[in-house]
Amino acid sequence: MSENLEHDARPVVVIVGGGVSGTLTAVNLLRQEETKIKIILIEPRAQAGLGLAYSTPCSEHLLNVRASGMSAFADDPGHFLKFAKEADATIDENTFVSRKFFGHYINSILEKSCIQAARRNVSFKHICSEVIDIERQEEYKIFLANGQTIQANAVVLALGNLSAKKPRWTANLSEGSENYLHDPWDNKRLQKIAPEQNVLIIGTGLTAIDKLVQLAEAGHKGKIYAISRHGLFPRPHTIKPSAAEKLSTHICASTKLTFGSVKTNARSASDWRNVIDGLRADTQKWWCGLEHKEQKRFLRHIQTYWDVHRHRMAPQISEIVEKLKTTGQLTLSAGRIQSFEEIDGQVKVVLRHRHQSHDTTIVVDRIINCTGPQSKLDTVDSLLLQNLQKRGLVQSHPLGAGIACTSDGAVIDKLGTPQQSLLAIGPMLKAQLLESVAVPELKIQARATSQRICAFLGK
Ligand SMILES: Cc1cc2nc3c(=O)[nH]c(=O)nc-3n(C[C@H](O)[C@H](O)[C@H](O)COP(=O)(O)OP(=O)(O)OC[C@H]3O[C@@H](n4cnc5c(N)ncnc54)[C@H](O)[C@@H]3O)c2cc1C
Repeated sequence: MSENLEHDARPVVVIVGGGVSGTLTAVNLLRQEETKIKIILIEPRAQAGLGLAYSTPCSEHLLNVRASGMSAFADDPGHFLKFAKEADATIDENTFVSRKFFGHYINSILEKSCIQAARRNVSFKHICSEVIDIERQEEYKIFLANGQTIQANAVVLALGNLSAKKPRWTANLSEGSENYLHDPWDNKRLQKIAPEQNVLIIGTGLTAIDKLVQLAEAGHKGKIYAISRHGLFPRPHTIKPSAAEKLSTHICASTKLTFGSVKTNARSASDWRNVIDGLRADTQKWWCGLEHKEQKRFLRHIQTYWDVHRHRMAPQISEIVEKLKTTGQLTLSAGRIQSFEEIDGQVKVVLRHRHQSHDTTIVVDRIINCTGPQSKLDTVDSLLLQNLQKRGLVQSHPLGAGIACTSDGAVIDKLGTPQQSLLAIGPMLKAQLLESVAVPELKIQARATSQRICAFLGK
């Protein structure tokens, strides 16, 4: 089956992935006035705009950015706050709104933009499927899992937060083991965890925090163990932002000197968060100007500490986690899994600790993989990326995470050529830009991506 475009002379833009990145790219294309185009968004989820983060059914999963910082439009910073206040007058600029509500916001913007654009001969269609391959001919030929093929003049890859194939350490768990939840977003399996069961969470980032919140909300009584290499949870936001401070962090070509200055400032600041937040506007430029060896140094020595301070959790979420810790129900460890052994429906796990000379053995009923989204091309579970790599349309970023792109998102093929009609946006650009995950950056990327496409099609 092929999408029938024979009587339609308008150029076709295919957006692969309908999370926030893909949907906001579509919204920006729908809002532009000059280019008459047909936009096709391919996303397996029934609703566009949600993606991984905002498709959670759990109302206790809160945004990790205040309402004032979550506008979908760079030129209208108050847009989300206004929308949220109309829905609930108790929301103010400092509220951490639920992620579910934010997904509804993005989806409703898309719906509104579609209605307005129809009058200008710009159309939009969401196809509920997965793209499994793309061939570059004169145009692009897109292959869908449902058997459909589509010809496109330009393609945007908005693949987002991809999950990893099963890691090597699961090899000694039996195939299809009831004990192991590889997909932490599989709510059906999560809900089947009985309140008295003991749970091991592997990973201590925001995915792990989400699972702790869900377990707490479900009235979980059993022991919960969480382990990661450094054993660090994201730091909390304050309830209200602290007063702005005049801070002059010395940003330079050396990661060591830059983060030395960050540390010094953080010690003297009235709130260390001001130092981290004060760098936000300059982070991408600083990162792109660093030498490769300095970027690698950051990833090896600083990134874990940076991430826990930069990607913080809402104070209400932090309270839930603290309660689990102080009551002794939750044990947090720094280290790694030494071995697994399945015995009578449970799993004996040996933990090797980072700061202790002896191992500990725990017995758990369920293990939840919360190692978070992955971006290494050879470990992500994406048939599309495997095929694009085979065709030489994409190559791994030199830092080993995500795909090689220019800073404005042109995908660099195997021959090293940036492709003006194959663009990427979102978390796959993290190695290129460092800050390429959260909505404040994505809304800017989405606008720039749509402008690039219009410039390409209009030439
Ligand atoms: C748990 C969690 C909480 C977060 N909370 C916040 C927050 O509070 N504030 C904030 O600013 N940021 C937050 N983030 C960061 C988040 O990454 C971004 O906000 C944003 O959701 C990323 O959107 P995306 O569209 O790039 O990726 P995703 O949301 O991952 O969406 C990508 C979409 O692409 C689709 N897709 C992938 N491959 C294909 C294919 N081959 N064919 C078709 N479709 C495909 C997927 O189905 C998915 O829906 C959070 C992230 C996570 C994981």
